[in-house]
Amino acid sequence: MGKKIAAYPGSFDPITYGHVNIVKRTAERFNKLYVIVMNNPNKEYLFSLSERLEMVKTDLKGIKNVVVDTFDGLLVDYLKRHRIFNLIRGLRAVSDFEYELQMANANRSLFPELEIFFLMADTDFSFISSSMIKEIANYEGDISKWVSKNVEIKLKEKLSK
Ligand code: ADP
Repeated sequence: MGKKIAAYPGSFDPITYGHVNIVKRTAERFNKLYVIVMNNPNKEYLFSLSERLEMVKTDLKGIKNVVVDTFDGLLVDYLKRHRIFNLIRGLRAVSDFEYELQMANANRSLFPELEIFFLMADTDFSFISSSMIKEIANYEGDISKWVSKNVEIKLKEKLSK
């Protein structure tokens, strides 16, 4: 059942070192990891899908076994179409749990063959979220410890507009 392929979906608005950490740890344990930049028409993003895709591709360049893709439909449809039966999500704090539990139950109900793996955020990155990065960047705070140079530049450009 496609044992060695996994998917890691997210908004990546923008990608942080917390995301990169999850990708690196997962890519070592699967033959292929699909990192899927999701586009939900009901969500408001700071960056467009193509901007988010570019930043994800740039930050993940050189990590073996990783394929970056985008999708704007229902995640389980993408997974079924590509015969991916392993889903990866990250957990930072108890506050992530309720949302992730609800999503996991919905996805498993829509796609019973799916297994969902939760990785605990590395302690160094456990407090990093895309929204916190955007807020700090908005006040011109230093975000260089949490995102790549490329993301830092793109955030500066975006927020100065
Ligand atoms: P979504 O809108 O799907 O929550 P995100 O880009 O915010 O998209 O997050 C994608 C996944 O990465 C989620 O499972 C989230 O919990 C996880 N994640 C985000 N930041 C971190 C981090 N610093 N450490 C570990 N996992 C993280």
